[in-house]
Amino acid sequence: MTTIMISRTVPFFAYPHVFMSREAEILSAIRDVGHRGAFILQEDLARFEDNLARFLGAKHALGVGNATDGLHFALRASGISPGDEVILSSHTMIATAAAVHFAGAKPMPVECGSDHLIDPAAAGAAVTSRTRAIMPTQLNGRTCDMDRIQGIARDRGLLIIEDAAQALGSQFKGRCAGTFGLASAISFYPAKVLGCLGDGGAVITNDDTIHERIYQMRDHGRSTNGEIVSWGLNSRLDNLQAALLDFQLRKYSDVVRRRRSLAALYTQRLKDVAEVVLPPPPDSDPDHFDIYQNYEIEAERRDELKQYLKGQGVGTLIQWGGQAVHQLKVLGFTQHLPHTDWLFTRLLMLPMNMSLSDDDVHYVCDNVRAFYGYSQ
Ligand SMILES: *Cc1c(COP(=O)(O)O)cnc(C)c1O
Repeated sequence: MTTIMISRTVPFFAYPHVFMSREAEILSAIRDVGHRGAFILQEDLARFEDNLARFLGAKHALGVGNATDGLHFALRASGISPGDEVILSSHTMIATAAAVHFAGAKPMPVECGSDHLIDPAAAGAAVTSRTRAIMPTQLNGRTCDMDRIQGIARDRGLLIIEDAAQALGSQFKGRCAGTFGLASAISFYPAKVLGCLGDGGAVITNDDTIHERIYQMRDHGRSTNGEIVSWGLNSRLDNLQAALLDFQLRKYSDVVRRRRSLAALYTQRLKDVAEVVLPPPPDSDPDHFDIYQNYEIEAERRDELKQYLKGQGVGTLIQWGGQAVHQLKVLGFTQHLPHTDWLFTRLLMLPMNMSLSDDDVHYVCDNVRAFYGYSQ
């Protein structure tokens, strides 16, 4: 191992950058919304919902407080109820399973495949007489092989509810993540590709009934004329956050283009390193358009590499604190998923965000190469 001199620090994610990279536009939007007193369920939200639905090629988008609530509402509105089982990938945020739990149903984590997304064969094998839905997580900005997921759902009479929290604009065969099933949720948590200044999320659906139910659920059961017609909660996307998200959505394709070029640069610099497995590079497969929410690699001697990079000023992250859903025995999971267990000893996320320069990526890659004893 040839240690290279520390010449810079590359944080895993620079939260201030979310604000500072467009400070002037943000401040003027805050001033505009503030002067109008337009805080809750106002025109900026409605406009953002329209633009988001159009961007995705979906009929409806509804702003909610966060994607976790959005998934919960999507399941509830779809009629998922106590006694039902919902199949999901064990490599997802606990939020996916929690949404199922709070709908009263049982989350059933299964193995993920070589692309780290739900393994369709494992999903099919987990179907029982109680299974009502499959909930694929469109992880790391990539969309599952939805032909196979839809095939299973069709054959076994199941609903599809997508966790598209990480996948705004990701596509499979030209169709956007979040539009394949009955409903889906997207997250605007600050570190997501379209991030706001706090919590935020949206539900996407092509179904008018689901749209109507969630429209009410997020706002105390109120219908369009303000009358209470059903039981509801309070989980609205703030109008101010919607205003900020709307102007960022206009430049979203530039953001995705940049992230894809960073992914291509990682590939170029690391593809000969036998000790790591990289995500598929952009355009390596015509069926997939990935947006690189995360750049999640598999690495031999993962913990040592993480420690080494830290010493060199490079921040990395192990997704979900290193625990797959089925490993959370404290929540009552009993599944044995050996492939996911093995994978979770190897996963590591390298920096992938809009504050990275090309030189930052070269520095990260120089250090990964040095750690494994490769020349620069
Ligand atoms: C971020 C995330 C969520 C939760 O989103 P929130 O808006 O923070 O509730 C759910 N699932 C996945 C896969 C996520 O990455």
